[in-house]
Amino acid sequence: MSGELQQLEKDALAELAAVTTEEQILAVRTKYLGRKGLLTGLLRNIAQVPDAEKPLFGKRCNEVKNSVNCKIEDALKVQLTRKREDLLLKEKIDVTLPGRVVKCGRIHPVIQVRREICAIFASFGFSIVEGPEVELDYYNFEALNIPKDHPARDMQDTFYIEENIVLRTHTSPVQVRIMEKMKPPVRILSPGRVYRPDSDVSHTPMFHQIEGLLVEKGVSFADLKGMLTAFLKKVFGRETTLRFRPSFFPFTEPSAEVDIRCVMCNGRGCRVCGQSGWLEILGSGMVDPAVFQNVGYDPEEYTGFAFGLGLERIAMLKYGISDIRLFFENDIRFLRQF
Ligand SMILES: [Zn+2]
Repeated sequence: MSGELQQLEKDALAELAAVTTEEQILAVRTKYLGRKGLLTGLLRNIAQVPDAEKPLFGKRCNEVKNSVNCKIEDALKVQLTRKREDLLLKEKIDVTLPGRVVKCGRIHPVIQVRREICAIFASFGFSIVEGPEVELDYYNFEALNIPKDHPARDMQDTFYIEENIVLRTHTSPVQVRIMEKMKPPVRILSPGRVYRPDSDVSHTPMFHQIEGLLVEKGVSFADLKGMLTAFLKKVFGRETTLRFRPSFFPFTEPSAEVDIRCVMCNGRGCRVCGQSGWLEILGSGMVDPAVFQNVGYDPEEYTGFAFGLGLERIAMLKYGISDIRLFFENDIRFLRQF
């Protein structure tokens, strides 16, 4: 019997040494130590062992059982460790790899300036309105007191779609459309694209304007000066110096162009301001009574002022950009700077 026991131990350990998977190890355990296992079978036959050898045989059985069990536990531990290592290897993440950079878009500088100006006039009680870019001759010229023989109507200065339909050359027609629809008081701001056949460092065939209109009882030129001064100081800083220069527009009377002290040279004279020390910023004036008559307002009862400015020009001065065409070339290296 003890010879059998010794052989059994040898076999069990040899089998354990040969197996490689958890299932195989468990199968060895069942084969030798299970309820119907070989070692259990031997123990069950203890009755056949002579009485004198029984204690020793029992002791040997336990020794074999423990030694086989130990080897099985060890083998299972090795398997578990290997399994974990495999899992770690499979789920390995290289934390030193650079992350994926999410590239954020930027708001176009012209739109940034538009938003800023809209916010300033909204704080003055203006609402934002829009109008069509393909416009009738009537709204673009006629209703704004620009007669048939006015040079601005020339083919060289206006894109004609048909004889009486143009790409609007300014945002002023929106004023007329709004005044036709609503009674004073009116405080509107109309930003949008406008079109003129021009292209060089300071002109593009499409550019952006903002037009403002205020109509109420008793509005005077002093109100115009006060509001535009407050506006320009908000955009260019409180130290900005302004001057109002007499000018002419068909739809305002009197009219004034507003200049600011050159932001590049502070008035000493440079290339940007053409050595004059001043920068032309916007056109403005008291709405011509003829325009009021065209929309059915009584010029005896109401007065108002209008102003218009180019957004690209403001953005160029604010950010020190020397070529207007950069805004529309969509060069990401340029646009990313804002
Ligand atoms: Zn200058």
